[in-house]
Amino acid sequence: MKGYIGSKITCQPRPERLYLPKPLCLIRRAVVPEKPPAFFIADSLGLDFLNSIATPVDAPVDWLDNGVGLVAWLAQANLVPAHALNDLARRAAPGELDKVAAQARVLREWFRGFVRKHMGRPLTPAAIREMEPLNELLERDEMFSQIAVSRDSDGDRLELQTTRLWRSPQSLLLPIGEALARCVCDEDFVNIRACEGKVCTLIFADRTRRRGRRWCSMAMCGNRAKQAAHRNRLKATR
Ligand SMILES: [Zn+2]
Repeated sequence: MKGYIGSKITCQPRPERLYLPKPLCLIRRAVVPEKPPAFFIADSLGLDFLNSIATPVDAPVDWLDNGVGLVAWLAQANLVPAHALNDLARRAAPGELDKVAAQARVLREWFRGFVRKHMGRPLTPAAIREMEPLNELLERDEMFSQIAVSRDSDGDRLELQTTRLWRSPQSLLLPIGEALARCVCDEDFVNIRACEGKVCTLIFADRTRRRGRRWCSMAMCGNRAKQAAHRNRLKATR
């Protein structure tokens, strides 16, 4: 699976997030199809969930097209601990993960409709009327706290950590629901925009100081637009 991890998409400012933890080697070897790394360019995990279907080169890629894809995307997004992913993947009945992936795609397209409707202007509390599908998912969450030892450069220390019961493959939708909820509640929708690339579908939160981000990445759509403008200038001077 070297190609999967090593292949480069230039539109990836945070390649370290694409690293699958070692315990996932088993999953990768067995089932991860030949897909490029998923996009994490949005500066908001909830929006990058929308970017889990995109067109990196010519053909569209859906990273959630089946259960294996969903597991691989969750690993890349660091949304589920590797041990829980491995355990759920091992315990899942045939077809069960595929069913969850189908639910994830439905959730994704519902959230895309919501974001596209509201992006570019402030989100008001009236949006609560549209939150039913997401609140229904959040209601199923099984989070709890644990005191654990955390290690950083200053050494070990005790830390209160939040985790989940990973009861069934359905649990895989819960951290996604949390990411979407955080996007709804914490993100300034004024700054959410779609890449201006002609055929690009990627969505992001503009965190630049001047709020001038136009592209999913300069390396991809930004450069394409520059080259097209250059060609047009050449044509005009001929
Ligand atoms: Zn783009």
